[in-house]
Amino acid sequence: MGPKLEGDQMFRKLPLDNPERIDCAGESFLRVPAESLARLTEEAFADVSHLLRTSHLEQLGQIFDDPDASANDRFVALELIKNAVIAAEREFPSCQDTGTAVVTGKKGQNLLVAGSAKAAIEEGIRATWDSRNLRYSQMAPLTMYEERNTGTNLPAQIDIEAGEGETLDLLFMAKGGGSANKTFLFQETRRLLEPDRLLRFLDEKIRTLGTTACPPYHLAIVIGGLSAEQCLKTVKLASARALDDLPDCGDMKGRAFRDQGLEAQVLKLTRSMGLGAQFGGKYFCHDVRVIRLPRHGGSLPVGMGVSCSADRQIKARIDRDGLWLEALERDPARFLPTLRTAQKPVRIDLDQQIDAVCDALSGLAVSTPVLLSGTMIVARDMVHAELARMVAAGQPLPDYMTRHPVYYAGPAKTPSGHASGSFGPTTAARMDPYVPDLQARGASRVMIAKGNRSAAVVQSCKAHRGFYLGSVGGAAATLGKEVIRKVEPIDFAEFGMEAVFLIEVQGFPAFLIIDDKGGDFFARPQ
Ligand code: SF4
Repeated sequence: MGPKLEGDQMFRKLPLDNPERIDCAGESFLRVPAESLARLTEEAFADVSHLLRTSHLEQLGQIFDDPDASANDRFVALELIKNAVIAAEREFPSCQDTGTAVVTGKKGQNLLVAGSAKAAIEEGIRATWDSRNLRYSQMAPLTMYEERNTGTNLPAQIDIEAGEGETLDLLFMAKGGGSANKTFLFQETRRLLEPDRLLRFLDEKIRTLGTTACPPYHLAIVIGGLSAEQCLKTVKLASARALDDLPDCGDMKGRAFRDQGLEAQVLKLTRSMGLGAQFGGKYFCHDVRVIRLPRHGGSLPVGMGVSCSADRQIKARIDRDGLWLEALERDPARFLPTLRTAQKPVRIDLDQQIDAVCDALSGLAVSTPVLLSGTMIVARDMVHAELARMVAAGQPLPDYMTRHPVYYAGPAKTPSGHASGSFGPTTAARMDPYVPDLQARGASRVMIAKGNRSAAVVQSCKAHRGFYLGSVGGAAATLGKEVIRKVEPIDFAEFGMEAVFLIEVQGFPAFLIIDDKGGDFFARPQ
């Protein structure tokens, strides 16, 4: 049997035996072997680590057709489509943060899994992360304060409901940390349910999302819910566009519905905020979902969340005709535009003395695109905690921190024959508390990562002639395959992907976000 269309989504059939029909106690059941469920899970997470939905790529492509898009919107869209082209070769994952495996679904009572469904799903996840160039991100707490990476990317979040009939519907998501961190719950009251007040509230809260989860976003907002957790679960499903078929109005039984009128208003709002696709412009969001749920009269949970530029979700179904996976886009190159960014990037040589690098950056205006070539140090959370300990103990800092720019990142596994795995930026703000002490000692003068920084970092850069450059979040495969030429662990190797690496880059794209004069792209009136 060939592919089949469900709603507006195409599904491909996996080359596995159809579920077996059995009769038991006068009832008919479909039975699927646990091994088939494991294979389905493995394929789903493999696809989603490398491929995007066609609709998501179409939205990126449309940015180029919009005369009101900014040059920086177009630059980011171009980088993200180029990244998708590299990821679709199925060697580099689209993002270095290959995510927490989240599996939700509904199992009909007349579909049986022969064996443990949970163990089968876990086996599929383990197999994908073992066999591909993904990153293990799950930390097991050994004590309240001591953690170790599990080395399998397990445990996973598995949440399957009981339903009717003889199908098993699943949604597989690989949720990155930065993206998951942009999920919020607000406990509000009935007073919010007035059109102007609700819009003002949403305006204020959406602005707090910032760009650390790599826009353009698929933004989801849920108003109501019988509990806080129902509200937030609905946010997650809506951000994956899994609730698009909801009706457009409520009823006396309290059914959920989509408010497409409010969706259009909120989308318009996001386009006027000025943040754009990471570095100024219009495309902060691709689209918006607003779902209204019933609620207890004394509560009004409001949830908000995003799906990021690694828009990783894939539907699956097991039914009498076989095992099916949503067909993702295998040819993202057809969305590549010929148009290039209008603003030409400035080339910066990182292999000069750090003072000379700072001199070169000092002459640029905030939001200028740059192309960096030369040597950088990579360090993130665990190393910064160690550096803080050295500062507190009065010990000297390692000289690599004063000699080179620092990139906040942690790589995925390196595909054989390449210098680097997918290696995009992590959220800079987590390193903010360390910056003043480090810069006061001549370290971290030039920092590269993603998202906004605190006022203390802006002040510190002004006081110590420092700079912060924003790298395009979500374009990790391009960086790993085409930009990073050498990766060498040089310190704290025991921290795994959080070790200190020395890397050599050629044409690393970034934007000047914070300069040495108190300028901050994110603090400008947008
Ligand atoms: S695209 Fe950005 S927010 Fe999304 S998983 Fe990757 S690093 Fe995290």
